[in-house]
Amino acid sequence: MLQIPEIPNLIYFAIPFFVITLIVEILVINKKKMVSYEFKDAAASITMGLGNVFLGVFAKGIVLAALTYVYFNFRFFTIPFIWWAWILVLFADDFFYYWFHRISHENRFFWASHVVHHSSKKYNLSTALRQTWTGSFMSFIFWLPLALLGFHPVMILAQMSISLIYQYWIHTELIDKLPKWFEAVFNTPSHHRVHHATNPQYLDRNHAGIFIIWDKLFGTFEPEVEKPVYGLVKNIKTYNPIKIAFLEWVHLFKDAATSKTSLSNKLNYFIKPPGWKHDGTGVISSDLRREWEEKN
Ligand SMILES: [Zn+2]
Ligand SMILES: [Zn+2]
Repeated sequence: MLQIPEIPNLIYFAIPFFVITLIVEILVINKKKMVSYEFKDAAASITMGLGNVFLGVFAKGIVLAALTYVYFNFRFFTIPFIWWAWILVLFADDFFYYWFHRISHENRFFWASHVVHHSSKKYNLSTALRQTWTGSFMSFIFWLPLALLGFHPVMILAQMSISLIYQYWIHTELIDKLPKWFEAVFNTPSHHRVHHATNPQYLDRNHAGIFIIWDKLFGTFEPEVEKPVYGLVKNIKTYNPIKIAFLEWVHLFKDAATSKTSLSNKLNYFIKPPGWKHDGTGVISSDLRREWEEKN
């Protein structure tokens, strides 16, 4: 019999740490007279985070059911709860996180939920808390292969939380570049600032979770050179949490429903990258990057 340890929801334990570091960051930024914080923006981000944790309670039931179903019916191996399994799951989870995150940028359906995380024009620890309200109900499909490989659902969920907590501290402008060896292996504030930037060369780059190695391996790495301009190519001008959560969903369904085109083109709105239009007038990230590369 597999010994299954009881692992609490690590996010709950991280909340006090989030609160304390957020306050420290606000104090330091005020002292340095930086403009990285705006009350309304931070309040919206924190509300999105609280909503995500609240909805996560319901999503977890679905996620656990799906992982458990795959694990008990189809798994290739039975990976025990021992130390090397945690190292394996660290890399395996991070690999699937990379693809989940990359596809969330390159596919409008998944982008509709992930866009929330990118909807702030500020970059600070509160931005880390700006999380989707809809993604938790669907993004788990990217983690099903882990259950198929034989990682226990409890282990997968624990590692997903560890990854999320790791990614919290990299949302800051207060930490400049870290030692070279660290920047080479790990996702860092510098790498993730690039990910949140709208400068054409930074679009859809650095999708890493914990290890930046995946971006280097799969050709999506971009170092931070120019000062990042944060937000979306087309910013949403709202601090209303409901709008932040659902606006892109509304736009997506509207685009598909109202465009006068074939059914397959309507479906393409759910498959093609954000910015794509059926009549060829759309501009997507790779177009903007190519334009920039031609100029430079
Ligand atoms: Zn992203
Ligand atoms: Zn982020």
